[in-house]
Amino acid sequence: MAKKKKKKQASPYLVIAVILCTAALGLAVAIALLAMAETAVPPVAESSSQAVTEESDFPSEDSREESTPGADSREETNGSDIQVSFPEEESSEEPRPEPQPGLGGEIPQFGSTRDYEYEVGLRYSVDLTPYEQYIDPEDASEYLLLVSPAAPLGRDYEPSDLIYIVDMRAGRPDYYSYLRKYAEKALEAFLDEAAMYGHGDIKVSNGYRSYAVQSTLFNNYLAEERARHPDWTEEQIYNLVATYSNPPGTSEHQSGLCVDMHNQIDTNSTFDGTPAAIWLEENCYRFGFVLRYPPDKQTVTGIKYESWHFRYVGRTAATEMHELDMCLEEYLEYKGLNN
Ligand SMILES: [Zn+2]
Repeated sequence: MAKKKKKKQASPYLVIAVILCTAALGLAVAIALLAMAETAVPPVAESSSQAVTEESDFPSEDSREESTPGADSREETNGSDIQVSFPEEESSEEPRPEPQPGLGGEIPQFGSTRDYEYEVGLRYSVDLTPYEQYIDPEDASEYLLLVSPAAPLGRDYEPSDLIYIVDMRAGRPDYYSYLRKYAEKALEAFLDEAAMYGHGDIKVSNGYRSYAVQSTLFNNYLAEERARHPDWTEEQIYNLVATYSNPPGTSEHQSGLCVDMHNQIDTNSTFDGTPAAIWLEENCYRFGFVLRYPPDKQTVTGIKYESWHFRYVGRTAATEMHELDMCLEEYLEYKGLNN
């Protein structure tokens, strides 16, 4: 009787206890699941976007378009604006589609710009279709010619494929206004892109310079210094002029593969560190150019920093030099190419 009574009384407590325990367990499970979800999701999203946009804070597609004013306004853009992110869908883990060689017609490099953009994590704003074959030449070694005081060109060296420079500064004489075809075409794309980032006022002041023109220039400087220092020897005069002008045959401009370009009144150090100079330096390799005389390579090139002097070498070599932080002399040695 007592047993029966006890059993009868214990039963509601047990039921309540079981209900409470179940509820508590359910709540604990729910909290644990919620906590797992909160900690697990963000890292996944973060890592997938990092893979592509790691290089800088990219402007969104829309803000990039808005910050592309008319060509001639000098906008205060800083260097980090130049890098463009891929759209969201590009950052997925899915393999990108295979290039389709058949669609390129006669251009053997078709598809390679797409691959290149993926490789460097940056996208072109200009349509590269008409320029791609020039930016990324089939015969790259053709454009790795080294010209320096130690490796001069002969009096007769004159490229046969010189064409007029589209982006020439107004009023410059004709004999400064030509460039080899591939370099010129690549330069057009480069400066079109620069204009899209607010640097449409960058113009070329010097392109190809013949041995004869360089001789005249150098001789004029010699005459000026002779007049200035009447008691100096001819050797002293020559050595002084050689510190700021290249003796004929030793100027890279004779190669027809380099330009001086800037948005200043004159070609000089006022261009150093300007937004336009920074933009050119940071983007040149994507168009097959290198800053030929960087400040930290003076001992190798033998030429002091020239923020305005860009040399065409083709995109593959320029990108390798960019990634390896090598100037042309170092790169040729690294590649075992001596010319
Ligand atoms: Zn120059």
